[in-house]
Amino acid sequence: MKTDYWDRVLDPVLEKAWQGERLSLDEGTSLYQADWMLLGKVADHRRRKMFPGRDEVVTFAINRNLNYTNICYVGCDFCAYFRKPDDPDAYLLSREEIFVKLDELEALGGTEVLLQGGLHYKLGLDYYLELFHAIRERYPGLYIHSLSVSEIYHLCRKSGLPLDEVLRQLKLAGLRSIPGAAELLVDRVREIVSPNKVTAEQWLDCMETAHGLGIESTATMTFGMVETLAERIEHMDKIRSLQEKTHGFRAFISWTFSPWNTQLSHLKPVGGVDYLRTVAISRLYLDNITHITSGYVTEGMKLAQVALSFGCDDMGGTLMQEEVVAATGTGTPSTNLSTLIESIRGAGKIPAQRDSEYNILRRF
Ligand code: SF4
Repeated sequence: MKTDYWDRVLDPVLEKAWQGERLSLDEGTSLYQADWMLLGKVADHRRRKMFPGRDEVVTFAINRNLNYTNICYVGCDFCAYFRKPDDPDAYLLSREEIFVKLDELEALGGTEVLLQGGLHYKLGLDYYLELFHAIRERYPGLYIHSLSVSEIYHLCRKSGLPLDEVLRQLKLAGLRSIPGAAELLVDRVREIVSPNKVTAEQWLDCMETAHGLGIESTATMTFGMVETLAERIEHMDKIRSLQEKTHGFRAFISWTFSPWNTQLSHLKPVGGVDYLRTVAISRLYLDNITHITSGYVTEGMKLAQVALSFGCDDMGGTLMQEEVVAATGTGTPSTNLSTLIESIRGAGKIPAQRDSEYNILRRF
């Protein structure tokens, strides 16, 4: 359209992004001042360029989030999920309870399990090695995409083993890839919202080591806490730089912080336009990451549908029973296959089930 064209050429950064040229930190930050609808169009253009011949397809996995324990000694201010061991609603799922949930996943044709939980003071490396072995034996068709970086460092502390050895043993037991769980990779922010958690450098070290061992991952960003716009781009920049070295990030998922029921409940939630701007900028800034995921879990399905026109090509997965975001009482913590398919169709796209490595298994 003529107007779009002229708006674009009048904004040299958007024009650069349209052409697929690499953006600097300042340029990425300046995109927050661009017309947001035009920003969406440019991000949508880059998404189409990324997927020639299948540019209307939106993928998802049939997967299950399995939050096996909410007991955690870290106590991040942004977390509504964790409990102390003697809290009345503290839990640790038994092996049998985990298997019941995986039976349900298998019955639905699921292909992936995301085991993530608190840092339980009693659970060490042997617990996870045995659990992964057991899952692999009982459910050979399930891909174990599990454990946050914090959980992995917890296992280093418990076992006294170095990071690479812990990752090697987890891989041998059946761990195939790691979900991002990065929050925001800027230590100024981390010191305010999660001073006891791993540092930005530790997160990046863990991902670099995992990628080097053939354990790929996703990367995430939680925004709307106490960060500046430039710090959001700084976060993306750290991920883009590591991707240049390892090529181990399969997808990037950003979501807005849900303050309810957390120590940061005084913060105002980020609005929908800011979310759409940020996913569009992530498509343009992260030019070396193929998949950008739209996050219905925190944003709700309707906004997630709109994000499919702002650079996203993936809807994550069914999740089935997400507990961590659910603890804030917001968003759409899980969905089912038919809702996901209808939501993607409703956005004018073609739904397609994928595996954990983003290969398309079937179209609907
Ligand atoms: S975010 Fe993770 S590490 Fe932090 S308190 Fe919650 S469960 Fe624990």
